[in-house]
Formats: sequence, structure tokens, C-alpha cells
Amino acid sequence: MHSQFYDIVIIGAGLSGLQMLIQIKEHYDFFKHKKIAIIDKSKKTENDRTWSFWEEGFSRWDLIAQKTWDKAEFHNKKSYTFNLDPYRYKSIEARYFYEYALRYLDQFPGIHLIHDEVLNVQPKVNQVEIHFKSEEKIECTYCFDSRPDLQKLENTNEIYLKQHFKGAFVLFREDIFDIETANLMDFRLSYKDLCSFTYVLPITKRKALVEFTLFSKDLIEDASYDEHIKIYIEKYISKRPYKIFKTEQGVIPMTTYDFQQDHKLGHFKIGTSGGWVKASTGYAFKNSEKKAAKVIQNLKENKDPMDGVYSKRYQIMDQLFLDVLSYRNDKAAALFEELYSKNSIQQIFKFLDEESTIQEDIAIMSSFKPAKFLRAILRQKLGI
Ligand SMILES: Cc1cc2nc3c(=O)[nH]c(=O)nc-3n(C[C@H](O)[C@H](O)[C@H](O)COP(=O)(O)OP(=O)(O)OC[C@H]3O[C@@H](n4cnc5c(N)ncnc54)[C@H](O)[C@@H]3O)c2cc1C
Repeated sequence: MHSQFYDIVIIGAGLSGLQMLIQIKEHYDFFKHKKIAIIDKSKKTENDRTWSFWEEGFSRWDLIAQKTWDKAEFHNKKSYTFNLDPYRYKSIEARYFYEYALRYLDQFPGIHLIHDEVLNVQPKVNQVEIHFKSEEKIECTYCFDSRPDLQKLENTNEIYLKQHFKGAFVLFREDIFDIETANLMDFRLSYKDLCSFTYVLPITKRKALVEFTLFSKDLIEDASYDEHIKIYIEKYISKRPYKIFKTEQGVIPMTTYDFQQDHKLGHFKIGTSGGWVKASTGYAFKNSEKKAAKVIQNLKENKDPMDGVYSKRYQIMDQLFLDVLSYRNDKAAALFEELYSKNSIQQIFKFLDEESTIQEDIAIMSSFKPAKFLRAILRQKLGI
């Protein structure tokens, strides 16, 4: 039997829900008199994904990171190696993130973990009603909801590309990999004329994640990812024998859809469903951490929870970039090469982290051939 009323309910103990929980625990002095619930239909014990991201220096994530890298590579017509300092690229296995966020929950008496499936959420003027599969019902003042809700994107006129990928964890019998360097984008092997690349994260000298990724409107057959991973390994890594001991697969939206329109009264969408994935890259881990921190700060200051969570300036730049990617998907490799060859990796990360100045934005945008973006502006603004 769930209690009847909560001040704050978080639906989903995945990435965004747990980033919210971590922030609440950090500010527990403020929240200790509130009644809070985090709900998930699953027990969160599965190691269902690996999150990778960059950030400056050391942080709490180093405690649970599987591996960090100080250098990165980009390959297309030419190859580029970058020293990431002061940034580091990091990888975390989901199971350690879930464990980290949910640990010691019993030390926070105001926070309840509910294992149940939410069937629907009804925002009303003064409270939000949450209905469960178990036929129970609870009410709350603020509901932060991360249930997946992507079907709606298929039926809008917005640009909707999918970042879809399959990753294979491979193990060789001898030392093969340079463990200092993460290969962020390798366009040397492509699928037809679509935006497609391989991503390689060496975990040890013998073990790596090799992922084949596309940014495209439609998904491809499962066997095509496998075939590309196999060809890539033989051509660009090693012809020596290896085995695949695990795979992971995903589809991440890259869209111009304005997710802010879906917040209603006290019901707020978070995570992928709330547009917390960076539209032009598909990266969500650090975005979710920052946005969760902002929401919690807003609650502490009695502001609208979503105040300042979305940046119009970066939304416009993401829209232009997605427009170019969508209309000239076959030219994506050249586009990324312009970006990586004309800017330092530090400038690129700062820009993608939405922390750059307007002058720095202009420097990044002027590394692309202007005609592509002028056409994108005309399409976006004038519909031509
Ligand atoms: C395989 C994979 C790899 C990825 N790698 C990266 C990466 O390297 N870097 C990066 O930045 N991003 C990555 N992403 C993208 C993004 O970070 C993840 O998709 C992220 O988990 C999204 O967070 P979320 O909170 O929206 O959803 P989730 O983490 O999926 O959380 C949603 C939660 O809601 C629960 N739930 C769903 N429906 C209900 C219901 N009806 N009732 C109760 N609970 C419910 C689910 O059980 C789940 O726990 C990856 C995605 C995938 C799939």
C-alpha cells in the first residue's frame, strides 16, 4: 500500500530520475521535511547500458568510472588526435550508477522507493494524480516523469533523426589497444551514404567497446550493425581472433521538437522525454546532471522548476545543425571533419556543454561552409 500524498514524486529510477535523487540527497537539509517518492517498475539491477561523457578534471563519477581517457581521436579523410586536458572522457557502467544513486536510501527517511508500474498521470490544478498498475493511486504537488514518450515524435513536422547503434564488447587474446585514447568518431567505414561511424572505447589493452552508430531517419537491420563491427575490427583494429562477450543497443532521439510544451501544471517531463538529451549529439549524462541540479535549485528558491533549464540560444544552434544533418545526411562526415579540424577539442566541448560565449559560438559556426547553414536558416525561418 503506497502512502497517499507526496510533495515530490519522481517517476523512473533511470538516468534523469536518479540524477534528481542525487541532487535531493545533496540538499537534504532543505528537503528533509518533504515527502518524496521515486518510482520504478524495474529493480534497477541490470547492467543495461554504458554512459560515456566528458567533463573537466575529477568528480564524484571517478569513484564509479570503468575507465577514463586523456586523449581522443577523430578519423575521416585525415586522422586527428587530441589531448583533452583539462577535460577527461569517462565511461560508467549503468549498474554502478544505479547502485551509487540508490545506496544508503534508508538514511533518508523522507524518501520512499516504490516498485510499481505507473499507468497514467493526471495533472490537476492543485495536485497531480498518479495511477498504478496495482490499481493504487497517489497524489503529489510536483511530479517529474521520465517514462519514455517518443512515439509522439513520429507524428510531428519537426526534424526527427535517430541516433541508433549497436555496441560489441570485444576481447582479444593479446594486447591490441592503446588504452590512453578514446576513438570518438571514425567515418572511414560507412553504411551506404548515411551519417554513420564507429566509436571505440578501449577499456584494457585487450578489451574494448566497438560501437557502430548512425544518425538517420530510419533504423537499419540488426545484422548490418554486426557486419559493420566485424569489418571495422578486421580492417582498422586487428585481424587476430577475438570474442564478443556482451552487446548493447540503443535509439536516442535527435530532434527539433520543443519538449517544454509537454510540461503541464505540476507534471514535468524529464530525461529523454523532457528533452534532456543534447539534440545535436545525443549525449545525456552530463546534461541530465546539470538540468537536475537546476530543477532542485529552482525548487529551493520557490521558482518554476523548469526556469532556466532550457537555453533558447543553443536550441537554435542545435536546430540549424540538425537541419543540415537531416538534409545532407550524406555530407555528415565532411561536416564533422570541418568541426574537428578547425577548432580545438576544448572549444568544441565547451560549445557542446552550452558554456561558450557568443564570440566562441561564432568561431565554431564559422568553421562550417556558410552556404549549408544559410540554407538551413532559410528552411527553418522561412520554410523554403
Ligand atoms: C544502450 C544505451 C547507451 C547509451 N549511452 C549513452 C552515453 O554513452 N552517453 C550519454 O550521454 N547517453 C547515452 N545514452 C542515452 C541516454 O543517456 C540514456 O538513454 C538515458 O538512460 C536516458 O535517461 P532517462 O532518464 O530519460 O531514461 P532511463 O534511464 O531509461 O530511465 C527511465 C526509467 O523509467 C522506468 N519506467 C519506464 N516506464 C515506467 C512506468 N510506466 N512505471 C514506472 N517506471 C517506469 C524505467 O524502468 C527506467 O528505469 C545511451 C542510451 C542507451 C539505450
